[in-house]
Amino acid sequence: MEHKIKLSEAIKFHGHLGPYLVIGILAGEHAIKKLKAKKYFGMQVKVWGATKKPKSCLIDGLQLSTGATYGKGNIEKFNARNIHIEIIENKKGRKISIDLTKDLLNSLEMVKTHKESELLAKKIYKTKKISELFIESIASI
Ligand SMILES: [Zn+2]
Repeated sequence: MEHKIKLSEAIKFHGHLGPYLVIGILAGEHAIKKLKAKKYFGMQVKVWGATKKPKSCLIDGLQLSTGATYGKGNIEKFNARNIHIEIIENKKGRKISIDLTKDLLNSLEMVKTHKESELLAKKIYKTKKISELFIESIASI
């Protein structure tokens, strides 16, 4: 997959490289593509289970790739046990729900050091099949 957001750009915005940041970028890019949504304004982003670091780094990835920001009020976070993302495309009224695959969750759990975290981030960024990372469903709303 060719990514619109470069890792160097993400690090410049977020301050460091980590797997959750990359997951946020990829989830947002994928959602925009699937929903044919307009970046910045055309959607509402909701994210669960990413309130504490490092999981909350996901939110910066989502902001970068979707252009939805806290300043514009079109991204919201909620407490939950597991990470779950919903992106709603306002015009056509479609919603994509994204959960992380068991494989991805296992890889995230294995990370112990800073170095491993960077390596996993790069590995996720290079993943060829999105289905290795996400379980998704699309619905009309
Ligand atoms: Zn981070």
